Amino acid sequence: MTIRQLPDHLVDQIAAGEVVERPASVVKELVENAVDAGSTRIEIATAGGGRSLVRVTDDGCGIAADDLPLAVRRHCTSKLGHGLDRIETLGFRGEALPSIGSVARLTVRSRAVGSAAAAEVALANGACEGPRPAALSRGTVVEMRDLFHAVPARLKFLKSERAESAAITEIVRRIAVAFPQIRFELSGADRSTLVFEMTDAPLERLAAVIGAEFAENALEVEASREGVRLFGYAGLPAYSRGTSASQYLYVNGRPVRDKMLLSALRGAYADAMAKDRHPVVALFLEIDPELVDVNVHPAKADVRFRDPGLVRGLIVGALRQRFAQDGLRSSTANAGGLMARFAGGAPRAEGRADAPVTAAPRRPDMARFEGFAPGSFSPGTPYSADASPFRPLDGVRAPPAREAFGFDEAPTPYQPEPDSPEPAERHPLGAARAQIHGNFIVAETQDGIVIVDQHAAHERLVYEALKGALYGGGALASQFLLIPEIVAVSEEDADRLAEAAETLARLGLSIERFGPGAVAVRETPSILGAVDCGRLVRDIADELAEAGTPDALRARIDHVAATVACHGSVRSGRILKADEMNALLRSMEAVPGSGTCNHGRPTFIALKLADIERMFGRR
Ligand code: ADP
Ligand code: MG
Repeated sequence: MTIRQLPDHLVDQIAAGEVVERPASVVKELVENAVDAGSTRIEIATAGGGRSLVRVTDDGCGIAADDLPLAVRRHCTSKLGHGLDRIETLGFRGEALPSIGSVARLTVRSRAVGSAAAAEVALANGACEGPRPAALSRGTVVEMRDLFHAVPARLKFLKSERAESAAITEIVRRIAVAFPQIRFELSGADRSTLVFEMTDAPLERLAAVIGAEFAENALEVEASREGVRLFGYAGLPAYSRGTSASQYLYVNGRPVRDKMLLSALRGAYADAMAKDRHPVVALFLEIDPELVDVNVHPAKADVRFRDPGLVRGLIVGALRQRFAQDGLRSSTANAGGLMARFAGGAPRAEGRADAPVTAAPRRPDMARFEGFAPGSFSPGTPYSADASPFRPLDGVRAPPAREAFGFDEAPTPYQPEPDSPEPAERHPLGAARAQIHGNFIVAETQDGIVIVDQHAAHERLVYEALKGALYGGGALASQFLLIPEIVAVSEEDADRLAEAAETLARLGLSIERFGPGAVAVRETPSILGAVDCGRLVRDIADELAEAGTPDALRARIDHVAATVACHGSVRSGRILKADEMNALLRSMEAVPGSGTCNHGRPTFIALKLADIERMFGRR
């Protein structure tokens, strides 16, 4: 046995395996470089899900012609001025460009600030060409083509073009959150263009990335302890999501998905949120670079804190205290916000629920505090674990929690009694009186009104039924198609669908292989009604591709159910008859968890008659 030094191109390919896992990792590395270069505008273009092309253009400091060959050589970096103990840039390993160049075709064109001309180098299969003169007015353009063309084994691990595109979008969103002063543009033939305009207001960027709703339903957080600073925005407990995908966490500007941080977050929200719900947050930790090690993994998404207990304590303590101060605020998505909007022309002067109506104008953002007594909390109120801060004030509309409607842990299913029909008003969700704008059911309850989002409610019911079928062992009723529908899919997708056929059959979807690159749909779930088979099958195929292995599939089965549910629930705009509306209300009462849709939004809101009267100044 002889021991040999591996040739450079093999060393690079091995290193590349850890840095460049998929197109999104290329985007991450290139965008990080552009950020490190002090850019104010970064444009990302992709094609073929980032497999055939990733191009990142920036207006940063650029690279001098003489340095270009070094930039694409392994272990060459202009960063790390202060050693591994003080990493202040996103990159520092000097690995990204050579790694990408070893598994794809790479060109780097750049013009350094102050230099008279631009130059470029090209790297293919590890061999560098150039530098040669090029045309570019400023900044840097890094272009990667044909990822893994020389490593077909890795190509197999890539997911569908759509899934890879989505992963790229996600990476750009994550980085964009941390750098609101930089304009990001993501475009390409494989996607619709996404632009995040530059802004000085971090919250504005968050609204652009996460959604305007987040900005309305988040509390600003700012705390520090022993040199560690935590700041950002934490979503109200009532504003939650079904997955942890909307948790944006940063350490010194670097997006991380760190187990300890995620668990601290769970701890902070533990007594305010159901176990299967996830908060939406954008939180930034600023910490002396010497107290955190980011050199844990080549992809740099993991970090190690020198004092994890300190960081955890800071997060849990700060968030809980913040909720204690302000936790009485309901999500605007719930009735509180609705009341505030109703108040529009004649807003209430005070947040007190029993305050008389006056016409005093208020700042629009104050409307968010509608319904809560401003005097009841003051900044710095210490958090107390035994007095739950999430209790609505008396007389204030609670979020549509089940207990608000007399539902307890196990709601009794509705049983129609044909002989002595109870007046519908007696039911928690009341009797349907009207359908408005094709999507909202207005129902009258004993002491108020309920407005139901029929699309959201139906989607949730379908989802619950699908999950019941998946886990309960039975199968959902299906509808036989007179003529089977043939859906063209990729060969891999056809394989995955065939593998999952048994599970899908339990959902009422019967699929068979149909020659190469196609499947035949023979039955669809009755619960969905008429459904676009092609879209449904392709979406499920994407879900399966995302899951990867059959084991992971089990974990994602809920997502498949949610995908199916989403298809069946294109019900807004459908005109419902009174008994259909009442049937929907009764089903909602019978199904636990129907108070929020699959996306965590409420499916209905309730207004007490007393509150309506108050709005009109009758009380
Ligand atoms: P690292 O970022 O870890 O230093 P990279 O391989 O990503 O390693 O990049 C190598 C070097 O190339 C960087 O240190 C930097 O000097 C230079 N570089 C790469 N991309 C850019 C860019 N967009 N603008 C300016 N310089 C860049
Ligand atoms: Mg880098």
